[in-house]
Amino acid sequence: MTTIALPTYEDAVARYEPVIGLETHVELGTQTKMFCGCRTEFGAEPNTQVCPVCLGLPGALPVANRAGIEATIRIGLALNCGIAEWCRMARKNYFYPDMPKNFQTSQYDEPLCTEGYVDVEVGGKKYRIGIERVHLEEDTGKSLHVGGATGRIQGATESLVDYNRAGIPLVEIVTKPVPGLGELAPEVARAYVTELRDIIRSLGVSDVRMEQGSLRCDVNTSLNKSGAEWGTRTETKNVNSLRSVERAVRSEIIRQAAVLDGGGRIIQETRHFHEDRGETSPGRSKEEATDYRYFPEPDLVPIAPDPAWVAELKAALPEKPSVKRARLREDWGISELDMQSVANAGAVELIEETIAAGASPAGARKWWMGELARRANETGVELSAVGPTPAQVAELQKLVDEGKLNDKLARAVLEGVVAGEGDPAAVMAARGLEVVNDEGALTAAVDEAIAANPDIAAKIRDGKVAAAGALVGAVMKTTRGQADAKTVRELILARLS
Ligand SMILES: [Zn+2]
Repeated sequence: MTTIALPTYEDAVARYEPVIGLETHVELGTQTKMFCGCRTEFGAEPNTQVCPVCLGLPGALPVANRAGIEATIRIGLALNCGIAEWCRMARKNYFYPDMPKNFQTSQYDEPLCTEGYVDVEVGGKKYRIGIERVHLEEDTGKSLHVGGATGRIQGATESLVDYNRAGIPLVEIVTKPVPGLGELAPEVARAYVTELRDIIRSLGVSDVRMEQGSLRCDVNTSLNKSGAEWGTRTETKNVNSLRSVERAVRSEIIRQAAVLDGGGRIIQETRHFHEDRGETSPGRSKEEATDYRYFPEPDLVPIAPDPAWVAELKAALPEKPSVKRARLREDWGISELDMQSVANAGAVELIEETIAAGASPAGARKWWMGELARRANETGVELSAVGPTPAQVAELQKLVDEGKLNDKLARAVLEGVVAGEGDPAAVMAARGLEVVNDEGALTAAVDEAIAANPDIAAKIRDGKVAAAGALVGAVMKTTRGQADAKTVRELILARLS
């Protein structure tokens, strides 16, 4: 393999136009699996939630789970799709160890929901992402490769399979290709997955946690010269966080531009995104639909949702996240652009809960969009996984409002909370971080600073008030930053006037 010099992202999007598409899998949070009565609890002992149906034993017959169909229809409705009045499940035939039936029960040419859209906003502009289809299928089991250094199949001594996940209902949401985004393609891709996650979470049909795999995303990317036909697309798998969605599109744009610049050809293939390196590597070459020899599933009756039932489900949809955001934006008194940043950072619910726990909107937003967003970025985790709970952030802000912590001390307390040392008040006490408000101690520190800096003190006595800063600094130093700078300044001026 030859190494090609990579262009910068700016160069790549100046020369080529990206077209993206997203395929998202959502694991539904039903109590039981899609075609049998097995439980679906996450993290159970391997192979304890299985039965003849989901193990694909001879003679076992599936029965569809009504809750799975209902959840899929509700997702379709929330994504503005039309709902099929009659459709069938299909067999997607392929062999893989984590799929004991040797076929996946899925949908092919008769998806349950079609022709919808999702609106997202990036940089103050609205983008409509077309939804081609929303269909229902079942999840596969999980392979575990052990004995090697990396947990990958290469170098492993044994492979184990856990079928607990096999047969859990899975909804696949496929967008239409999205051209015309230019350099914003990575950000729009992320905004779309964020919006999709929020919509599905609002329906209560899945916990949509990317880190646990209940929301999984494949990103299609192609490049073309301006005005030319669309290029060959690659499909990037293993994109496990919102941040990675953006990074995966960006890195694939850069890689493809380098190949095209060198006169090369893009191969239609699946690629794997590597979180650590921020790059993709080639996987298998992409199968065609014909390779799967789809045919209608003969063991299941067709799905024919009663239009009256669908109308009922539609009428009972919850408040849309976009409508909710508009309402919260009013309540919080922030600009549309600021609300967009909050939404794209995945911070809406976190801030909402922090306010519910007693913080002011400005206080709640300051922590989540400032210090905590910075930490999330640095450590490469979702904001909700940084550590502090909304209640803890509210408590921290309360300590600041009460004058017990200044900004610098509050950040130190937050560090303790992130490190798992307990709630803010406990961390403050254990680390001895409270602001010194004891007037006696402060006066002593002020007097000490004046005595140690007679020249500066003389200047202030002569009316050069600006010189007080140096004495404030000296007091802050002796109190290890635990004094309130404003109070110290007032004390110094009172002493020297
Ligand atoms: Zn089962």
